[in-house]
Amino acid sequence: MDFMNSWIRHISLEEMSQNDYDILIVGTGAGGGTVLWRLCERLAKERIRIGIVEAGDLVVPTHTQNLPTVNVDDVVFMWRSPKYVKHYRTNYASNDAAPIPIDFHQPVIFGGGMVHWGHSCVRMDPVDLAEWPVPIGDMDFYYKTAERMMNVTRRVAAGSSIQEVILQRLRENGFPEATDTPTAVDFTATQHGRINSSFFFSSILLIARALNVKPFDLAVNARTTRVLVENGHVSGIEAISRDKKPYMLRAKTVVLSAGTFGNPPILLQSGVGGRAVGHYLANHSTVDSFLKIRRSEFAEVSGILRVLIPRSADRPFQFQLVTGDYYQPFKAKPLSEEWEIWLGAYGKVQSRYENKVALDPVRRDEYGLPEVQISFSYSEEDLEIIRQMAALSRLAASAMSLPVPGEGEVCLRIPGREFHETGTCRMGENPETSVTGRYGQVHGVSGLFVADNSVLPTSGTANPTLSTIALAIRTSDYISEQLKSSLKKQF
Ligand SMILES: Cc1cc2nc3c(=O)[nH]c(=O)nc-3n(C[C@H](O)[C@H](O)[C@H](O)COP(=O)(O)OP(=O)(O)OC[C@H]3O[C@@H](n4cnc5c(N)ncnc54)[C@H](O)[C@@H]3O)c2cc1C
Repeated sequence: MDFMNSWIRHISLEEMSQNDYDILIVGTGAGGGTVLWRLCERLAKERIRIGIVEAGDLVVPTHTQNLPTVNVDDVVFMWRSPKYVKHYRTNYASNDAAPIPIDFHQPVIFGGGMVHWGHSCVRMDPVDLAEWPVPIGDMDFYYKTAERMMNVTRRVAAGSSIQEVILQRLRENGFPEATDTPTAVDFTATQHGRINSSFFFSSILLIARALNVKPFDLAVNARTTRVLVENGHVSGIEAISRDKKPYMLRAKTVVLSAGTFGNPPILLQSGVGGRAVGHYLANHSTVDSFLKIRRSEFAEVSGILRVLIPRSADRPFQFQLVTGDYYQPFKAKPLSEEWEIWLGAYGKVQSRYENKVALDPVRRDEYGLPEVQISFSYSEEDLEIIRQMAALSRLAASAMSLPVPGEGEVCLRIPGREFHETGTCRMGENPETSVTGRYGQVHGVSGLFVADNSVLPTSGTANPTLSTIALAIRTSDYISEQLKSSLKKQF
């Protein structure tokens, strides 16, 4: 038996095409994994069939940092390999004054981006949530549900002297809201009957939990190309196998979770979703600084640093501070006199129609399908926030009594390299400016839903995944309630 191909049970697209599914999910990242887990739990007792299809292959069975043989350099290599990630480099941001290259990515592996993600689970601020079509009370409930399920804790740096000293300096010198970063890691100790081999959370854990409550069918190397719609209701999907054979899969409900760059081509090729499909692409503008810190200023065992300075009403950006050790749990750490702290500022980016994912009218990929084309630029308002982030980064360094970074040491990151892209199927009430309604249902097509980063209506300033997972749980609850009531009516 080939272990690398069988650590999770999966079947071929051909087999899936023989079945009738009640629900089909496309993609196994944060959105798809959540929808699968929640629906399997909610519908465990119902006689319904659930399937999930994934364009990528089975590559790693857990978050890469749970593997002691993998260190952060290997992860970066993997993240850059065209075997696992689709890079979009073709277009340039078109700010006239200063053209900026872009480097957006689409992970194409089982588990999606959460196989490598950095576990920061920050809630969107109420100022940002006020722009969303979901009541704040609902968000609060679903954030709590998501945090519980993801083991979110603020204790990842508890007891670390560098954490305590930096927090104190920030709080006393102009950043009173500085706090421990909420992080999705499982601190539960291994015991008899409960072996904790997954410290770092990923969507693969969600899929594992689903497996244990309800059987489902999974196909990998199965790329969805279109959704099938009959008389305004979804009837299934078309998917293509690695050997380029197309299959039709029948389903009463379809949830697209192929990500910010994966969903628009599917919807555009199907001719559904309206004029907002692919538009309003947003990310976080990111300003990076690397600050020097001397070991002699701390106790002998200094630990790690994970600090968050959330956005405030008049500051539309957040800061995060991390020491390199956090990402290298198994790497030997030489005793060095000088350390580096990454200080990153994530800024709000306006949702604008002209920032978009579109289909290239000429170029075709290896499947003969249109290539994806991305257009992205920062607005004047975005650039003003970027300038403020650079200035405040220097102020934060000085608040921590660290050398203030000079000219050229505070840098704007290339758009896309923050991996926080959102908005191409955004939620909203108006079909002219949004693709889905408040429960993730695509306007005008019953039974078709979207659940992943692409539905986030605006970028806000918080890392996106916790919000995506909260909304994906909400969408799943809506689907399961509808399904249960239609099953009741049949009897
Ligand atoms: C290095 C790194 C660090 C990060 N750190 C953080 C962090 O600390 N906090 C945070 O909030 N976020 C972080 N992120 C971002 C986080 O990973 C994403 O927000 C999250 O994965 C998005 O989930 P998604 O479901 O929208 O898309 P994805 O995770 O990209 O999942 C989409 C899935 O769909 C599949 N797919 C695509 N097209 C098709 C198709 N046509 N048919 C079938 N399947 C398809 C893909 O293969 C993929 O598995 C980080 C990302 C990276 C890479």
